[in-house]
Amino acid sequence: MTGAAGARPAPKPPLASGSGRAIHAGMVPQNIAIVGAGLAGMACAKTLEAHGATVRLFEKSRRPGGRLATRRVEVEGVNHAFDHGAQYLTARGAHFAAVLEAARAATWPDENRKVGRPNMATIGRGLADGLDIAVNRNVVEIVGQPGAWILRHHDAGLITPGGPAPDSAPAEDGPFDAVALTVPAPQAIPLLAGPAPHLAHVLEGVVMAPCWTAMIAFPTRIPLPDTLRLAGGPIGWAARDSSKPGRVAEQENWVVQASPDWSREHLERRPADVALMLRDALEKLAGQTLPPTIICLAHRWRYALVETPLGAPCLWDPALGLGAGGDWAIAARAEAAVDSAAALAAAIRRA
Ligand SMILES: Cc1cc2nc3c(=O)[nH]c(=O)nc-3n(C[C@H](O)[C@H](O)[C@H](O)COP(=O)(O)OP(=O)(O)OC[C@H]3O[C@@H](n4cnc5c(N)ncnc54)[C@H](O)[C@@H]3O)c2cc1C
Repeated sequence: MTGAAGARPAPKPPLASGSGRAIHAGMVPQNIAIVGAGLAGMACAKTLEAHGATVRLFEKSRRPGGRLATRRVEVEGVNHAFDHGAQYLTARGAHFAAVLEAARAATWPDENRKVGRPNMATIGRGLADGLDIAVNRNVVEIVGQPGAWILRHHDAGLITPGGPAPDSAPAEDGPFDAVALTVPAPQAIPLLAGPAPHLAHVLEGVVMAPCWTAMIAFPTRIPLPDTLRLAGGPIGWAARDSSKPGRVAEQENWVVQASPDWSREHLERRPADVALMLRDALEKLAGQTLPPTIICLAHRWRYALVETPLGAPCLWDPALGLGAGGDWAIAARAEAAVDSAAALAAAIRRA
């Protein structure tokens, strides 16, 4: 696949030379780098490896899984956990149903929705098994040439979010026959701008909404149902996270997601302020004073859910051996990440 409608025609099939292994037009890439070890990256890697390719994943976080995430917080020797990314998963197709089955996902809050057990991050951990994933690698540049791409990356452990880039020169890995980006589309743009500006240009059409998410623990049960989906106010979704199967039922842990509009409006606020604002909004919903919180934190997902998807299952330039995929190509659901990964792996193998 050479990308979605509107993509500039790909450059002429290149014949690489120099330090890397030369790849010729029509050759199927065997030595592949994937940037981003979320659902899409890991699913794509598994398929490519099943067909004999060697794949190395580069992930900027300490753990793989991406937005299928669980935050652990210890207070006075007691561990609390919050699924602060995806809340529940739904499978419309057999492929994702098999992923959920393999992960032994549990049913919550009804028959049609599934969650990881004992937490959402378990699903990513299961997929990561057997894959070569280099964590803490924030990829900042792709250089080189077709057939011999080099990834430049910083140790993400040394970077403070929003802080300056580290002084030291980035480390390098490669050469790779091909590089697939499975990071949120806005984060793929700067990486593709140098080696594949026509692909970066196409990705500019993808719009992703932010989501401020509060993680709140109360000492006692509060008078609200396990899940609430709302419109028009600060809160878009709130759930008693501790009501999911396999959690500590005695705890009263809540995940409160702000609506996209509210999240945009308050995007640059301090997390501590946002956490309190969302706690107050929850109190309003409860209609009574809530007990003092044990934990009240907020996490900003700058790129949470796609609003305007790519409209094609992935983006791939076979001549360059570069492309991208992820949920944002199709829809705002985890299943879309896996479907996009399948399309991306097929496009890479068709090269
Ligand atoms: C708050 C929230 C609620 C959600 N709720 C639901 C839900 O209820 N149901 C549902 O089905 N889906 C939900 N989703 C969406 C679901 O989580 C995603 O569709 C899915 O996890 C996307 O997977 P992905 O692999 O495409 O991307 P991601 O999970 O975002 O993975 C991309 C990975 O790339 C890494 N990365 C980014 N930049 C770099 C770089 N430069 N170098 C190296 N690594 C990099 C990131 O750290 C990340 O691990 C929700 C998401 C959020 C944020």
